[in-house]
Amino acid sequence: MATHFDVVIIGSGAGGGTIAQRLAPTGKSILILERGEHLPREAENWDAKAVFVQHRYRTQERWYDKAGKPFTPNTHYWVGGNTSFYGAALMRLRNRDFQETPHAGGISPAWPIQLADLAPYYDEAEALWQVHGARGEDPTENGDEPPYPYAAVHHDPGIAALKGHWEAQGWRPFSLPLGIKLDQAHPVTSTCIKCKTCGGYPCLLKAKSDARSIAIEPLLDAPNVTLLTGRKVVRLETDPSGKTVTEVVCQTENGEERWSGDIVVLAAGAVNSAAVLLASANAAHPDGLANGSGQVGRNYMFHTLTAVVSLTAERQQINFPKTLACNDFYWGDPRGGFDKPMGHIQLLEYMSGQTLEGQVSDWLPPAFAPGGLFEAAAERMLSLLVISEDLPMADNRVRLTPDGRITLDYTHNNLEGHERLVKTLVQSLDGFVDQAHPICQHHFQMDSLLPLYGTAHQAGTVRFGADPQSSVLDPWCKAHELDNLYLTDSGFFVTSAAVNPTLTIVANAMRVGDHLKQRLGASAPAQTPRAAPAATRRRGHKAGESLA
Ligand SMILES: Cc1cc2nc3c(=O)[nH]c(=O)nc-3n(C[C@H](O)[C@H](O)[C@H](O)COP(=O)(O)OP(=O)(O)OC[C@H]3O[C@@H](n4cnc5c(N)ncnc54)[C@H](O)[C@@H]3O)c2cc1C
Ligand code: SF4
Repeated sequence: MATHFDVVIIGSGAGGGTIAQRLAPTGKSILILERGEHLPREAENWDAKAVFVQHRYRTQERWYDKAGKPFTPNTHYWVGGNTSFYGAALMRLRNRDFQETPHAGGISPAWPIQLADLAPYYDEAEALWQVHGARGEDPTENGDEPPYPYAAVHHDPGIAALKGHWEAQGWRPFSLPLGIKLDQAHPVTSTCIKCKTCGGYPCLLKAKSDARSIAIEPLLDAPNVTLLTGRKVVRLETDPSGKTVTEVVCQTENGEERWSGDIVVLAAGAVNSAAVLLASANAAHPDGLANGSGQVGRNYMFHTLTAVVSLTAERQQINFPKTLACNDFYWGDPRGGFDKPMGHIQLLEYMSGQTLEGQVSDWLPPAFAPGGLFEAAAERMLSLLVISEDLPMADNRVRLTPDGRITLDYTHNNLEGHERLVKTLVQSLDGFVDQAHPICQHHFQMDSLLPLYGTAHQAGTVRFGADPQSSVLDPWCKAHELDNLYLTDSGFFVTSAAVNPTLTIVANAMRVGDHLKQRLGASAPAQTPRAAPAATRRRGHKAGESLA
């Protein structure tokens, strides 16, 4: 096997999978290095106990908070990355999300690109990721978006009732856009069966639109694409000038391997990509690769999240609750009194008793919450998520300890709009539920609150911008200081906005992919790979082959 490729991509999640998919038709030789393995298809995929209580698929890795306390991040190292576990809510950023916007807690800075730059890629991403939605319902839409490629997922009776309850208060709830392979007209043959084990679980039927099924698996037979699993990239090495990445160094169970590419694309997720750059410090980049601005690892964001868990007197007729959302308060309170952004509300997925148990088990001793109680609660439960923008703060950052462990320094910010929205939501449920309890992320430690979402929406640690003094990447997501290093995971985000990030990661990776096609001269014949030394040839395997 060759050790040199036209393009080396690190990570196979939303950003890595999409850039691979975009570049594959060029015929250029592409190597994807993924630290995880292929996710097994097994009964445990849909077993709440295995997924949420035993954490079968979550990394065992320990990260550290700013006080040095270890926690297990809710992150998943498998082919397809975190998208195999995500809730498939695929939202666009709004026009104003790209512009400088005052918030109660400070300024949300402008992006170096505008919605118009991403709009055609959002259209394409929605088609490719089979998004079901209803255009024209969300009051914050731009107004010029094309119809969704698939009709909105029907609401279960209990959710339709909640929609009516909100509309009676003057709210304009809309159908949450979802990327699932659902054929509502033909439920018997539909790939998606609208099961109760979606968000947080891998889909046993591969009916979830995720990087695994949409981007990576269609490439497994492509002659010019090689996927190597079990490869944890630990550092990037450069030439003496520091301008070119010359080698990608990874750890495998058999020791170190080195690979090289004309272009290297980092897509290991916002935290891990920053960690790789920091670990790659050398004489030309003493503070970490591409870190002349000092911004690598900084501006870590992961949304301010509160789950509002409500209990009804009667059992609900709800199997698939995650179909409704509300953006009426996105830019402020339309009733007056608060003219700063508050955030977004969406229904959460169905929570079984064991999902609930997994959510609280880290901080509530089992004796206080016996299993039967969780099951009884689950049958009467409606869970909603409030997502608000956390602002990029230089001191909220990824650092490495001297022995290379990941530390996340994070202090919550910009809470006023969020807290107002949580209060508004709880009040709005009066008359619909018996009790509603907010479980606020910022009242707990990172590992104990909403482990389901914990570090799920990580972003911003390698931000892009026009100014090399204040950003790491240029507007094409190329490192300002290097000629051949790009990044397409959520690290490039300038702000977190208040909606789920994946559609933006995918659309941006398509945009960067088109830029790279031009740079690589897409019509040029593919480069013939150079021969690899025997040691690496033995470890190499073609896409789809098992390492076992
Ligand atoms: C439970 C859950 C629910 C979610 N729900 C939603 C939702 O409904 N909607 C939404 O938009 N988003 C959702 N998200 C967030 C979404 O999954 C992420 O935003 C998205 O996957 C990020 O894409 P990425 O490419 O930046 O990183 P990832 O998808 O995390 O991909 C990174 C990849 O890099 C690999 N990797 C990491 N380090 C290395 C290394 N050193 N060397 C080699 N490979 C490496 C990882 O194994 C992984 O495959 C959810 C996330 C979770 C966990
Ligand atoms: S079958 Fe549908 S609802 Fe169930 S996990 Fe798969 S995509 Fe989600």
